[in-house]
Amino acid sequence: MDVSALKRDLEGLKIDDNPAIVQQKSRDFYWYSPVLKQQLDHVTGDLIVTPKTEAELIRVLAACHRHGVPVTPRGSGTGNYGQAMPLSGGVVLNLAEMNEIKSIAPGRVVTGPGAILADIDKATRAHSGQELRLSPSTYNTASIGGFIAGGSGGVGSINFGGLRDFGNVLRLRVVTMEAEPKALELTGENLHKVTHAYGTNGIISEVEMPLTAAYDWVDVIVGFDAFMDAARYGNALACQDGILTKLITPIAAPVPQLYFKRHQKFLREGQSICVVMVAQHGLDAFLAFTRRVSGEVIYNAATATPDEKKGLPPAYELAWNHTTLRALRVDPSITYLQSLYPFPNQLALVEKMDAMFPGEVFSHLEFVRLDGNVTCFGLPLVKFTTEARLDEIVRLHEENGCPIFNPHRYTLEEGGMKQTDAVQLAFKRETDPLGLLNPGKMIAWENPDYDYRSGRTFLFKGLQKAG
Ligand SMILES: Cc1cc2nc3c(=O)[nH]c(=O)nc-3n(C[C@H](O)[C@H](O)[C@H](O)COP(=O)(O)OP(=O)(O)OC[C@H]3O[C@@H](n4cnc5c(N)ncnc54)[C@H](O)[C@@H]3O)c2cc1C
Repeated sequence: MDVSALKRDLEGLKIDDNPAIVQQKSRDFYWYSPVLKQQLDHVTGDLIVTPKTEAELIRVLAACHRHGVPVTPRGSGTGNYGQAMPLSGGVVLNLAEMNEIKSIAPGRVVTGPGAILADIDKATRAHSGQELRLSPSTYNTASIGGFIAGGSGGVGSINFGGLRDFGNVLRLRVVTMEAEPKALELTGENLHKVTHAYGTNGIISEVEMPLTAAYDWVDVIVGFDAFMDAARYGNALACQDGILTKLITPIAAPVPQLYFKRHQKFLREGQSICVVMVAQHGLDAFLAFTRRVSGEVIYNAATATPDEKKGLPPAYELAWNHTTLRALRVDPSITYLQSLYPFPNQLALVEKMDAMFPGEVFSHLEFVRLDGNVTCFGLPLVKFTTEARLDEIVRLHEENGCPIFNPHRYTLEEGGMKQTDAVQLAFKRETDPLGLLNPGKMIAWENPDYDYRSGRTFLFKGLQKAG
């Protein structure tokens, strides 16, 4: 890899090869996983390149193609599967400055890939009282391109399902990695070629996303003596079609008491909670429903005093992967899993898994609507002991019918459905024939005959050697 020749070719573009900065921008939240931390801690790129326009992006990709240099795209680097880490070095393609909000219309917004989700909402709210349908809990820092390429759903999924569901992305413009890069426009079925593909088969240069009505959302926390009461409440609330919510998150004791430091004043010992975001106009109905099922409202932002509210993070920053972040800040030995409790048996499965690992795994659910049905994902916290035990906990979930999207693996397939995505692989053959985009993340490309049932972890041969 001739990085000096590449640098000459990129003259006039914003580049940075300061090793400390390159290393910092070569990392994401991979350290969430003790397994990935060990495997990827040494990984670093050679150069950061920050294009400001699609024309500059095309110049970068053409030059890297000419010199055979790998390119790993990066939005804000909040991915927690090591998605944005350049396993074979090369260019870290920083898309943060392609962040223009280009147009807003009823039901849609067009932006550059680097636009931050909260900034998009600020603009669409001011323009016409609209907001994005879905956001990760990293709403304040994550980019829209990184969310589409590396995320899966989050706040809002209770109404709209997952990012890859039809209609949740309207259009993507994607630049290919060829001698003369092309910009392709993808809509409908073709969107599945690049959504959640970790940037392995094209660089998203523009996005068009659907919008929904923006309301004032009220943060509420409801307390329960038993975790399963919180889980049943979350499920029943999610089924109340007339009450508009954006987040329904049951979390088992002692997680809130141990890790939600700023909320401790509201919590009783042993109390499990359900964190909710409800539309202001639905608050009365929500409170009536909660009273009917004997839920105890322990925090209500609509009636809390300024003193009570002081210093509290927003509700969504207690939820999704922020629950894990709060736990890790207090106890670095905590790790987590990402599971699904499939409809219609979600509550029975939750109950079974919650009872299976006392003192070792602590339940945390996120209610969502998938294919029209209310069900829940889990992001349970795990007291980490060994990798073998973690694998065993994964196996026990899967044997009991709860698929795990393993956050301790850096490949698309192992972190996802454990099978080849033929559509994404075919698209990569078209758009990145030399295999230079985010190498090592798509097993199907590296080893088409890989046996996902082998029980072994895939090890990318091109992974930089430590030391
Ligand atoms: C505290 C915390 C909470 C989180 N909560 C959620 C959640 O609720 N829901 C959820 O889905 N995820 C969640 N995540 C994971 C992550 O934040 C999201 O996936 C986020 O949207 C990633 O955005 P980013 O801009 O940081 O992307 P990055 O981490 O920079 O990139 C993510 C992936 O996309 C690729 N990529 C980036 N930009 C482009 C582009 N323009 N074209 C092609 N590929 C590109 C990168 O190579 C990488 O593979 C969370 C992570 C943390 C640390």
